[in-house]
Amino acid sequence: MTQPERAGAPASVDADGWLSTATRLPSPNFEARPGAIEPTLIVVHNISLPPDDFGGDAIRDFFQNRLDHDAHPYFEQLRGVRVSAHFVVRRDGAIEQYVSCNERAWHAGVSSFRGRERCNDFSIGIELEGSDRFPFEHAQYDALHVLVDALTTRYPIDALAGHSDIAPGRKTDPGPHFDWRRLQRASGLAPCFFPYLDPA
Ligand SMILES: [Zn+2]
Repeated sequence: MTQPERAGAPASVDADGWLSTATRLPSPNFEARPGAIEPTLIVVHNISLPPDDFGGDAIRDFFQNRLDHDAHPYFEQLRGVRVSAHFVVRRDGAIEQYVSCNERAWHAGVSSFRGRERCNDFSIGIELEGSDRFPFEHAQYDALHVLVDALTTRYPIDALAGHSDIAPGRKTDPGPHFDWRRLQRASGLAPCFFPYLDPA
């Protein structure tokens, strides 16, 4: 008998770079990682479209280049913008995957980590559905923990960072409400995985 999926149930990433428990919603916005390098960094973001508006299909539509730009005034500025992330964690903890982790998604933009530019080349991008103005949901932390566990098992990940850490002055997400220490505790990862978090 098949067990229903539970929050916190283990997940794994297959050889093609897809998470076993994610809903697959392939985005055309990706390319090969240069030199076929393996990802070593996880970048945490937040996103909501329009900002502070949760639920709905706009994030999915945006990452799949099918957003109805006339549906909301904010969407006008997104016309022609081509972006993606590997994962979106919805408010209820459901995980969507848009790009294989083996490929290069377009989430970080101009960025630098430990002196290394173009973080998209060597990172996995996770978007939490949310904004800088509101706390994230417990279910999102649970899902993120499962996701980070699966990613660190499959890839030689050695650090996690926020978008604001690798693009300071340009980006503010995941924002002041994201609890890095909670993620660190849940993940069981050593403090060295969190170079932007002050030691407790
Ligand atoms: Zn971001």
